[in-house]
Amino acid sequence: MTTKRSLVERLNQEGAICAEGFLFEMERRGYLTAGEFVPEVALEYPEALKNLHKDFQHAGSDIVEAFTYNGHREKMRVIGKEDLLEPLNRAALKIAKEVANDVPEGSEPNLMAGNISNTNIWNPSDQNSQKEVRGMFEEMIGWAVDEGADMLVGETFYFAEEAYCALEAMKSSGLPCVLTIAPMGENIMRDGVTPLDTCKELEQLGADVVGLNCFRGPETMLPYIKDIRANVKCHVGALPIPYRTNEKQPTFFNLDDYDNCKCAAPHGRTFPTALDPLFTNRYEIRKFMQDCYDIDVKYLGVCCGANPMLIREVADVMGKTPPAMRFRENMSNHFMYGTNKRIPEHIKDYGDKA
Ligand SMILES: [Zn+2]
Repeated sequence: MTTKRSLVERLNQEGAICAEGFLFEMERRGYLTAGEFVPEVALEYPEALKNLHKDFQHAGSDIVEAFTYNGHREKMRVIGKEDLLEPLNRAALKIAKEVANDVPEGSEPNLMAGNISNTNIWNPSDQNSQKEVRGMFEEMIGWAVDEGADMLVGETFYFAEEAYCALEAMKSSGLPCVLTIAPMGENIMRDGVTPLDTCKELEQLGADVVGLNCFRGPETMLPYIKDIRANVKCHVGALPIPYRTNEKQPTFFNLDDYDNCKCAAPHGRTFPTALDPLFTNRYEIRKFMQDCYDIDVKYLGVCCGANPMLIREVADVMGKTPPAMRFRENMSNHFMYGTNKRIPEHIKDYGDKA
């Protein structure tokens, strides 16, 4: 039996990878509704969810995050299925636990993470809403602890105070805690706190990892990560979306297709179903990860839009050798662009006209 290091042990050594973005990928695979975005797949197609976790593990993810994102009481009320709340959470946690322990012979088991996220009912001026949110966090954390989570991830918070509330609830479990925030396009938390100040406060409240996830691509996330890294002592996390957000459009909610699209989405925006042409390539993700790793940001991953190809790039940056590394690109044997001496000159010459 290979030893299973804790999250912080891994972060103090080579770093840890957490694949995210399951809503988008399950939607692309045909198991989840875009827009509505509820993770019912854990109950309806457990094998499909398990396969997704396995694919990310194969590509190098060290953490199997239970797919309970949006699987909270409020969202279940919105879709009129509140009765499925606990079964859904427990099913997602059990699947994640099973995959985390099912690693190739001789490899270190993965960590299973329980997950809570933005509730979208947090109201800074309404204590009742805040109490309700806290209750939603506590019940989900309780199920995660019950099902054997090794750590907890609170993510995608755009109210600073909601993130603090989440962390307090998470800390009471005694498990290691990752808290990543997601400032919207105004570049400030919705309650007026800067991303940096939010992360500093989260560190004070005892988070093991603070940082950003989702909403922002590499270009509009990196400056905040650098700023946070320079101003906190704890570990820092960075999990961008793989889309080309930019200074004018810092998040994918308002990302433009710049009149390149001849067939726009009927709902009038690229988010969430017409973002495909705005995808970053693997080298852009790799560069982001390398830039982070070079400044000692070692909790890395990719959020909405993630796929195993991108997770493998992160693994390579960290010097990990997951099974998928065997299938890294090898252009030398390409029939037209390769350097292999068996490739005929007249075929190589044709390459620029192809
Ligand atoms: Zn995301």
